[in-house]
Amino acid sequence: QEPGLQTLMGLLNSGGAETRVVGGAVRNSLMGLAVGDIDLATTLLPEEVSGRAAAAGIKAVPTGIEHGTVTLVIGGKGYEVTTLRRDVETNGRHAQVAFGATWQEDADRRDLTINGLYVGVDGEVVDLVGGLKDIETKTVRFIGDAEQRIAEDYLRVLRFFRFFAHYGSGRPDTDGLKACARARAQLKTLSAERVWSEVKKLLSARDPGRALLWMRQSGVLTEILPETEKWGIDAIPGLIAAEQALGWEPDALLRLCAMVPKDAARLVALSERLKLSNAEALALDRFARAPKPQDTVTDVAFDRDLYRFGKDGVISVLKLELASARARAEVDVKAMARSARLFALLKRAEGFVRPILPIKGSDVLEAGLPAGPKVGEILGKLEEGWIASQFNLSREDLLARLETLVNT
Ligand code: ATP
Ligand code: MG
Repeated sequence: QEPGLQTLMGLLNSGGAETRVVGGAVRNSLMGLAVGDIDLATTLLPEEVSGRAAAAGIKAVPTGIEHGTVTLVIGGKGYEVTTLRRDVETNGRHAQVAFGATWQEDADRRDLTINGLYVGVDGEVVDLVGGLKDIETKTVRFIGDAEQRIAEDYLRVLRFFRFFAHYGSGRPDTDGLKACARARAQLKTLSAERVWSEVKKLLSARDPGRALLWMRQSGVLTEILPETEKWGIDAIPGLIAAEQALGWEPDALLRLCAMVPKDAARLVALSERLKLSNAEALALDRFARAPKPQDTVTDVAFDRDLYRFGKDGVISVLKLELASARARAEVDVKAMARSARLFALLKRAEGFVRPILPIKGSDVLEAGLPAGPKVGEILGKLEEGWIASQFNLSREDLLARLETLVNT
């Protein structure tokens, strides 16, 4: 067990106070999975939590004071401590909460039964929502009436599929699935940040294939990612199979790329709509611009592509092409040959180190050209020649070429 958690449980369970671990930490430890962040629920008010922490010399950060959350930091690890709450008003996007709730009320405002379990200071599981049996059967189910719980916060539609992707088995709960399908048009009222954060977590599951299938079937996928309309999720099973066979780590963005058209303008629009980070938007753009490799491509021409389009984008395209060739290889001899070639190209791409053009703008100025657009033009010509030489032209070769270019 965790020493930091022991300390906190001692501190926050004395003098009539009661504090329990809740949410993901309980769920994952019951399922025998790695535990990430630890969330605690407490009968103490936020200022009492901060007060006890201060008296014990523990750092307290008010991370969500209006919702009753104080983060306590022990040994560099943060523990979110939240006062028992009940919802007084919800509008599908935000909830107004009140303190002084009972454990049952605190449990009832949580989303899913597998997320509504507590573990007390004595180590006993407290189940007020029927979560234990759902953990056992890996059933993802809303606490209370699905339709009503979704109307309180439409993000729960995406959470339902996200938790199904990670923890569910078999078919999703029928009532939950129906309620999600009915609520799909309301998803556009959610903020882009909340949507993308959930979608990204869903797409990071070991195998999000079944969750995506049900999302598509219920119309939810098209609602949040209309770009998936055309191909849908056809490429996903092949990608997952390739990941598992070749040891690729789950990659949310690559899975997204497998479902959308490879088109720069549409992917820019998607990035803006869902407010992707700059790095994520750049990765999608690189993917859109990188060419699909012909299996007849020579190593030399391929290196040129890697240099021009960047290795990350080329690798994304290659992985998807390889996954699809592998999926067809069982019935198609040509696809088998193609997948062997693509595999070799992937290895080449992964080992590629981008060479640096051994000549700079300042060299062009020193050669006597006045500053202006011509400098870039000449540099571009030199770079073209250098690429064509398979990056073999030396600095001296390039300076000689520069001389000729400037003097003609
Ligand atoms: P993980 O952190 O592993 O993704 P988690 O279950 O801890 O999973 P969090 O998003 O950290 O998920 O939320 C902590 C707990 O708060 C959840 O287990 C759930 O009980 C509750 N919760 C979070 N978001 C919602 C929501 N939108 N509606 C209702 N309850 C929620
Ligand atoms: Mg959590």
